[in-house]
Amino acid sequence: MQKIAFLFDAGQVILSTFDLDEVLQRILGIARDYFQLQNVAIFLLDKETQELCVRSQIGWDEGKEQIRVKVGEGLTGSAALRKQPVYAPDVSHDERYVCSATSTRSEVAIPLLVQDEVVGVLDFQSDRLNHFDKATIELLILFSTQAAMALQNAKLYSLERQRARQLQAINAIAQQSTAVLEIHELLSRVCCLIQEAFQVPQVSLFLHEENEMVLRAQYGDLKLQVKEGSRFALDGAPWSDILASGGTITENDLTKTPDSHRFFADCASRTLIPLVSFGQTLGVLGLHSSHRNAFQGGELQTLESVADICATSIQNANYVERVKQLAYMDGLTGIFNRRYFELRIMEEIERAKRYGNGMSVLLADIDKFKKLNDDFGHLAGDEVLRQVSEIFRNHLRKIDIVCRYGGEEFGVLLPETSGQLALKVAEKLRKAVECFQFRGVPLSVTMSAGIAAFPDHGTKRDELVRAADIQLYAAKQAGRNRVILAPLVRGQSNSK
Ligand code: GH3
Ligand code: MG
Ligand code: MG
Repeated sequence: MQKIAFLFDAGQVILSTFDLDEVLQRILGIARDYFQLQNVAIFLLDKETQELCVRSQIGWDEGKEQIRVKVGEGLTGSAALRKQPVYAPDVSHDERYVCSATSTRSEVAIPLLVQDEVVGVLDFQSDRLNHFDKATIELLILFSTQAAMALQNAKLYSLERQRARQLQAINAIAQQSTAVLEIHELLSRVCCLIQEAFQVPQVSLFLHEENEMVLRAQYGDLKLQVKEGSRFALDGAPWSDILASGGTITENDLTKTPDSHRFFADCASRTLIPLVSFGQTLGVLGLHSSHRNAFQGGELQTLESVADICATSIQNANYVERVKQLAYMDGLTGIFNRRYFELRIMEEIERAKRYGNGMSVLLADIDKFKKLNDDFGHLAGDEVLRQVSEIFRNHLRKIDIVCRYGGEEFGVLLPETSGQLALKVAEKLRKAVECFQFRGVPLSVTMSAGIAAFPDHGTKRDELVRAADIQLYAAKQAGRNRVILAPLVRGQSNSK
């Protein structure tokens, strides 16, 4: 009767919570107190390695908590293998005994079974010889049945909660993909969401750009070995394998892989999932861990769905980027338009203020273009505009910003360039245009230009543009085919 009361009470206690750690603690506490034991432990079975790992214990000697026992080894391993309780009334005479507390004299190991499958072992130890009689062992077996049930419930519950978290994350990623259209921000947010929802130690996103794989975002606990923005050749590891297979690749042991291929310090295993949209591999979602064999769980399919959503989001963001670019492009010449000039001049002025390296603005205008159109036709005129744009692009640096400012007018921003230097650059452009033989135009085409520099001729957009425009007008007045730098206001000296 007393036993039934105990089992009833114990069942109430351990089945009244879904929190796994609390369940474990309650099981151990009840066993120790009711059976007057010195130490009790719960081992859970790692199915992959077929090892029993201590999940929770009371009373063990320090340093023994990390013990892993192979199924079949020790008293606990034997209980798991045989699916039967194993009893050692005197551990000193049992060769299977593995010491976890020096004071132990007798031990019972009882397998925890769920639907006839071993999920772990409950291990009871006493400082007294022959502490467990037949009736006690029978009661422990019944108690273990309840414990197994409570463990299973807690596991199912935590699995459900995890699923709910993951669903939320998938939802959030899908939402971000419409809300965040700036690609780098989108990638960073997606990395965070995946890391948190799937409890992956490190998440990374690589994008396929111009025949290279580029690390664009990453989030997690592992230390990055390469810089964000690093580029990797597609024919090297691991990209060639992923592109060839078109599917997910899991690498279970990277401990012997060179650091440069692991991307993160201490990365011991990883899964790389291609981001595919409309048959195109846009990039790779990387999941990394400092443990070997970390990605063998059943979450791969869910993560592949997440990767699909990411691919669509990236595709959307790319479209938006492309539309933005088009909004700043001049359709006829392929160079930037006036809108872009207005945007960048503000940025370049700010940069010049911050770094103190100056900048120049050049406004150029083709001479007598109306007549050129009239004499040789509008198409020839268009071709001249395209060709002049090309000449400007070829003669300027990559960081210079060449825009079509209006009909046959060009606006050029020259970062970190003094007025004097800009004058030389403009002279070079003028000569290049003058010497060029334009298709459909048997005469030489010329241009005039005015230049203003920050801070010599102004520190604001309007001041600089007006100063350059005045000099352009002056160049026209002076006979065209020439470039003029704005004069200095009294008390200033042109910076070299
Ligand atoms: P100036 O030397 O004083 O600059 O004389 P101009 O004839 O070049 O100047 P004006 O402003 O009188 O004429 C500019 C001409 O450029 C008028 C316009 O028809 C022509 N134009 C503007 N945009 C285009 C274009 O996209 N294609 C062509 N072919 N011509 C254009
Ligand atoms: Mg003109
Ligand atoms: Mg004009």
